[in-house]
Amino acid sequence: MTSKHEVPSYLTSHGIGPWGDYLEQIDRVTPYLGNLARWVETMKRPKRILIVDVPIERDNGTIAHFEGYRVQHNTSRGPGKGGVRFHQDVTLSEVMALSAWMTVKNAAVNVPYGGAKGGIRVDPKTLSRGELMRLTRRYTSEINIIIGPNKDIPAPDVGTNEQIMAWMMDTFSMNQGSTSSGVVTGKPISLGGSLGRREATGRGVFVVGCEAAVKRGLEIKGAKVAVQGFGNVGGIAARLFVDAGAKVVAVQDHLSTVVRDSGLDIDALHAHIEKTGSVKGFSGGDEVADRQQFWATDCDILIPAALEQQITAENAGSIRAKIILEGANGPTSPAADDILHDKGVLIVPDVIANAGGVTVSYFEWVQDFSSFFWTEDEINLRLTRIMREAFASVWHLAEEKNVSLRTAAFITACTRVLQAREMRGLYP
Ligand code: GLU
Repeated sequence: MTSKHEVPSYLTSHGIGPWGDYLEQIDRVTPYLGNLARWVETMKRPKRILIVDVPIERDNGTIAHFEGYRVQHNTSRGPGKGGVRFHQDVTLSEVMALSAWMTVKNAAVNVPYGGAKGGIRVDPKTLSRGELMRLTRRYTSEINIIIGPNKDIPAPDVGTNEQIMAWMMDTFSMNQGSTSSGVVTGKPISLGGSLGRREATGRGVFVVGCEAAVKRGLEIKGAKVAVQGFGNVGGIAARLFVDAGAKVVAVQDHLSTVVRDSGLDIDALHAHIEKTGSVKGFSGGDEVADRQQFWATDCDILIPAALEQQITAENAGSIRAKIILEGANGPTSPAADDILHDKGVLIVPDVIANAGGVTVSYFEWVQDFSSFFWTEDEINLRLTRIMREAFASVWHLAEEKNVSLRTAAFITACTRVLQAREMRGLYP
């Protein structure tokens, strides 16, 4: 047994930040792991952490330094896999948690990967296109030693996109001397990207949302939906819900909250965001000054699709939704989980709800290896099947054990990871 004092201090932030939330989630699931519980410490210690200095020359001739990370949480079931985040609040603790949630997510939906995540503490909106390219290329060179199509495969996350993946792929390939398309996913279609990848996370949220609605006896047609974050996840999910007959009654982003009980015009909202970069100033709804009011929106389905630690003990009590679909990673704190569980709110946890992105990343990686590309229909069909099956099996386990969907998803995932860990054994 490892005694407490042997655990390095950066690994023990119980109760603080996203890593603290994650540790709490693992503690909650440990009693259900049977004999595998002796391996559970594996889940609490990232396998490998790389911290890199990323210097760039700014357009004005000055030199700027940024801190970057790549954390490989676990590789028991396959190579590391997970996105790269460019955001001004990125910290090591956050990237550790995000990498661990990737391990759990990949195992929960049974794609053959471990878990990893990367990030740079930078506000990409403050950089020119050239600066962003130099930052991305230097970061890729710095983490080059630990990534690769069979080692660890980055992808987009908050603040990164297809263009950044193209630069990462090119930098890795130039350093290697040969084009290696499978080193990242979420690439442009012209470079070996997959049809449907851009929409995959939002589509997955919609698919599990429909399954959850059936379980709760809720009709999607006419259902009221509130969305926090209107980017690649929230924006796509909102559109799919509206196409299915639901109404989006509230949208919040980092600058503003807009509401309209009769339903916002999603096409007009997308056009406004395309033009201005935010929901702020959208004339087709009322702006709400108090951000916390968003959580109390009268709605059936609530989709947090922005950052972690948004639903907390402070606001969970005010939530009126019947179903929460976690489009973001780690949006709900363990204390909020308990409050919502007691209120009878059904939470489809992040590690299932937003797994559509990495699932189509897996399809992209497979297509790159075989240089044989599938149709969008094939991709969406396979995605829908995987999401439905993951939801159904987690639902079944939750009923059997009388636990939340999150605990059931963690039981499934930790069992898969730790079984692989045990079968492989310790070496050397
Ligand atoms: N960043 C996404 C996530 O949090 C996708 C990761 C991937 O495709 O590897 O799941």
